[in-house]
Amino acid sequence: GGAVAGVPAANAATYMDTKKPVRERVEALLKRMSLDEKIGQMTQPERGAVTGDDITRYRIGSVLSGGGSTPTPNTPVAWADMTDGFQRQALATPLKVPLIYGVDAVHGHNNVVGATIFPHNIGLGATRDPGLVRKIGRATAEEVTGTGPDWTFAPCVCVARNDRWGRTYESFGEVPELPSAMSTIVDGFQGRRLDGPASILATAKHYVGDGGTTGGVDQGDTQISEAELRRIHLPPFRAAVRRGVGSVMISFNSWNGVKLHGHRYLITDVLKRELGFSGFVISDWNGIDQIDGQPGFTPAEVTTAINAGLDMIMVPNDWKRFIDTLRAEVQAGRVPMARIDDANRRILTKKFELGLFERPFADRRYLATVGSAEHRALARHAAAKSQVLLKNERGVLPLKRNNNKIFVAGKSADDIGNQTGGWTITWQGSSGDITPGTTILQGIRQNAGRNTTVTYDKEGDGIDRSYKAAIAVVGELPYAEFMGDRPGAMGLDEADLATIAKLRASGVPVIVVLVSGRPLDIAAELPKWNALLEAWLPGTEGRGVADVLFGLTRPTGKLPVTWMRSADQQPINRGDGKAPLFPFGYGLTYRR
Ligand code: BGC
Repeated sequence: GGAVAGVPAANAATYMDTKKPVRERVEALLKRMSLDEKIGQMTQPERGAVTGDDITRYRIGSVLSGGGSTPTPNTPVAWADMTDGFQRQALATPLKVPLIYGVDAVHGHNNVVGATIFPHNIGLGATRDPGLVRKIGRATAEEVTGTGPDWTFAPCVCVARNDRWGRTYESFGEVPELPSAMSTIVDGFQGRRLDGPASILATAKHYVGDGGTTGGVDQGDTQISEAELRRIHLPPFRAAVRRGVGSVMISFNSWNGVKLHGHRYLITDVLKRELGFSGFVISDWNGIDQIDGQPGFTPAEVTTAINAGLDMIMVPNDWKRFIDTLRAEVQAGRVPMARIDDANRRILTKKFELGLFERPFADRRYLATVGSAEHRALARHAAAKSQVLLKNERGVLPLKRNNNKIFVAGKSADDIGNQTGGWTITWQGSSGDITPGTTILQGIRQNAGRNTTVTYDKEGDGIDRSYKAAIAVVGELPYAEFMGDRPGAMGLDEADLATIAKLRASGVPVIVVLVSGRPLDIAAELPKWNALLEAWLPGTEGRGVADVLFGLTRPTGKLPVTWMRSADQQPINRGDGKAPLFPFGYGLTYRR
């Protein structure tokens, strides 16, 4: 490290000296920092709402490209150029404290066109394979590292208790044991050491009880006892903390009427003291606005949040007012300086541990891993392992590879956007050709063998009885967060039912492949289908689904959630006494 402008070289050397323990470097740096510099470290604007000059002038500590962000660059190299540009602005300050750049890499590096997209968490929960999930974390970290960000807002370790919830697919499952087991993804993201090759900071989210709201309403109220909160929703955070997760994101939900963003007991007493979490706590997107139930944040909300134990605030647009407000609250004595210092210690410790002071820029050697053949092979394998076979009448599956005549239909048969779901390229995701990959139809064609014809018609027109099997790939269209809440009907839409009806009318056995973020209300339809494969949201490598259809991979996925018999059973969870359509853990396989 070189001399820092305006401060004596000896002091500068202390925090830039890699031979000194991180603890000493943090204290040496903290001594040099003004209140404004400390507040800057606690401020995270959205990348479209700050200029490079703002980063330098306001000593901003972090920037994010979040779900609600302005459109992102569409090549991996443009990403690296963007994040490096911000970093240069952060390093153009007297103390040269590097920026930490955060993204939602929640199923691969999903903001980047061309990245490998893995199955969403619900599918990974179905694999019951923590080792596979750790590898997915590693692959994702490599792709993220090449393009510059240092931090992912993942994993979501929520326990989804009500399938009406639009974030059900972000959950590894409805019992705490599943997200706890799959917290191995933290090891994948963070690597053996945070300053090791391609290590990125992980975030356990959303603390706590996000999956337990009444009615499955996103950002709603979790009305349960403390005993139940601790039994169902807390254990995955304990598991993530044990693995050394670097950050925890606070949830938008309330617990018995009190918003988590202002919950000192749960953040400071339980998470930091009792669980011993030593990383830093980040708010959710404008989360501090919601503490008093009115839009926008007040000085009282800023003070409540910081004093509750939030260390960094995701304040996408109104960040200048946040800085002014927090400064005024500290100067008025309402936020203790000790709290500001504690927040800074936590943030700076992670920045030192990540090696950001020594290597602040994108590690472009990893650019070649973005969407690499190796990562796509892993995603294909994960997609195959996440499939859950729910019905297989007279062994209609696996499909014969040779001398077969197969008809494929359905809105999600040939649609990368549908099979990747929300949080892909854009926040909500969208149908269509949004990023390179292999659709389920393409996978079927690739797996079909000698003398096999595969005919495709989206609506199911043109089928006749000469076909030996008909596959309908149907289900949910992409959604994210509250946009995906389903307070009403939870069945298939009319178009899907019409497609299936056409296939059925031909007399050919019908195999339904459901592309969905959660169980759907299908009990009335199921008797009409000869086979049912739940594909979840399998990602860009649709061939993994085809591998199971043809028996190249035997189905081994097990339901990570209980499957309702009807929508009015929600919430339905393991062991609650209601008779489900398929129990938690259900999943068929093929005879050897
Ligand atoms: C979501 C978080 C996400 C954040 C940043 C919020 O709306 O709740 O899960 O990390 O946006 O995109």
